[in-house]
Amino acid sequence: MTWTPSDWRNLPAKHIPEDYPDSAALAAVEAKLKSFPPLVFAGEARRLKTRLADVAAGKAFLLQGGDCAESFKEFHPDNIRDTFRVILQMAVVLTFAASKPVVKVGRIAGQFGKPRSSPTETIDGVTLPSYRGDNINGMDFNEQSRVPDPERLIQGYSQSAATLNLLRAFSNGGYASLANVHKWTLGFVDRSPQGERYEKLADQISKSLDFMQAVGLNADTIPQMSQVEFYTSHEALLLGYEEAMTRIDSTSGEWYDTSAHMLWIGHRTRQVDHAHVNFCKGVRNPIGIKCGPGMGTDELLRLIDTLNPKDEAGRITLISRFGSEGVAEGLPPLARAVKESGRTVVWSCDPMHGNTLKTDSGFKTRPVDRILSEVRQFVDVLSAEGCYPGGVHFEMTGQNVTECIGGAQAISEEDLSSRYHTHCDPRLNGEQALELAFMIAEKLQA
Ligand code: PEP
Ligand code: MN
Repeated sequence: MTWTPSDWRNLPAKHIPEDYPDSAALAAVEAKLKSFPPLVFAGEARRLKTRLADVAAGKAFLLQGGDCAESFKEFHPDNIRDTFRVILQMAVVLTFAASKPVVKVGRIAGQFGKPRSSPTETIDGVTLPSYRGDNINGMDFNEQSRVPDPERLIQGYSQSAATLNLLRAFSNGGYASLANVHKWTLGFVDRSPQGERYEKLADQISKSLDFMQAVGLNADTIPQMSQVEFYTSHEALLLGYEEAMTRIDSTSGEWYDTSAHMLWIGHRTRQVDHAHVNFCKGVRNPIGIKCGPGMGTDELLRLIDTLNPKDEAGRITLISRFGSEGVAEGLPPLARAVKESGRTVVWSCDPMHGNTLKTDSGFKTRPVDRILSEVRQFVDVLSAEGCYPGGVHFEMTGQNVTECIGGAQAISEEDLSSRYHTHCDPRLNGEQALELAFMIAEKLQA
């Protein structure tokens, strides 16, 4: 039986809203999306796969990060630029330390839909459907805003298109040139310890560029120095939208989901015989699989078999998210089983989703020391198992938010309320993200 992009509709599907008031309106929007231009090209997704194959082989490092959830309200060119430049800074720190190429993938230009632990939310005795991401319903806590509205899918598509357009311009139009390595620092990071550390490194890079210039090589004329490859990714959650964006590539004759270069399967939707896995099985994009508490070795091997029967390198990225308390116990059996199976994968660490807690004042937060500790343990566990710790997957923003506690600025529980803007999970701010990059750089050099 040949796969088609709508096969998932016949299978059980978790976390896809069923309460659209007008299913004909939803179908009409999905039909419209099918006629819209692709956001990415199949050839780009294939190129990312070859980059990830290098990561799987231990020759490169994967840096994947961005918002937990993009929002219509925070949609602003400055926010896109600031996320982009923090990722550039982190990549510079890691490239310099590891002497390996860094594959840069944003959780951006399509990361809207959210799986929620509870379908409803109760505040002061009032119970309403949970917020499910801006492309489904609204965050405001009132009945009307929580009703799923299909028109939001069109707005999500438009925002993704505009975001991607700006990212392409930043990547290729000069902004990302290494000659600008000093200019990427954000104002609030500039005066911080991490900012100073970064400046020292940027000075060294500038000196190397000056030397190159002196011997007649101009960085601006060398694509590897004046441009970056930047890829997009999001969770393949809202399958009606993903189906509408899935097209046959004219070069290979194969299906690609053109909503992003890379997609991942979330912790809550990884059931091997359910809709999300079925959908991802049929598209040729690189696929991430979140691996966390409760995942058995048999389950993981079945998922890998189903999603990558031919063991294509770069196709599968396993994203470990056990939490700092769980990784030492949860990860080794999985790493061992995959190694013994001989399958080719990238191992990446999401140190965010297993380290979320709620403060007494009701804020969801993540302690930076637990985030750093999970990454350190991830590197140790994989190295001990003879596997390559190939990447990190994190939630961050370039904005000076106070959402994760700790870090060099020592954000306290009391500070959280001052700049807490996330639409879902707490993100690292620009300085905390840079701190993470320096820590990984040290760990990889050790
Ligand atoms: C996420 O990446 O935002 C997320 C919900 O992660 P997980 O599926 O691992 O819980
Ligand atoms: Mn999240």
